[in-house]
Amino acid sequence: NLEYKAKWYGKTIVKISRWYPSSQICSECGHQDGKKSLEIRDWTCPICDKHHDRDINASQNILAEGLRTFHTA
Ligand SMILES: [Zn+2]
Repeated sequence: NLEYKAKWYGKTIVKISRWYPSSQICSECGHQDGKKSLEIRDWTCPICDKHHDRDINASQNILAEGLRTFHTA
């Protein structure tokens, strides 16, 4: 599960692009929903209808992107 993997990979420093738009991408289906102003704390993906907390969704995207980078490095 995700939490286990997060801990497992926690000791490896994975660098992701600072331009990676983690707060714009749906962590459920990968849809990029465009720029969101900072006062938007939560949003619903128009493609898969998943409701996201901005920060939780962003952290899930950063983890996923980090794992992708890790596996292809
Ligand atoms: Zn989605």
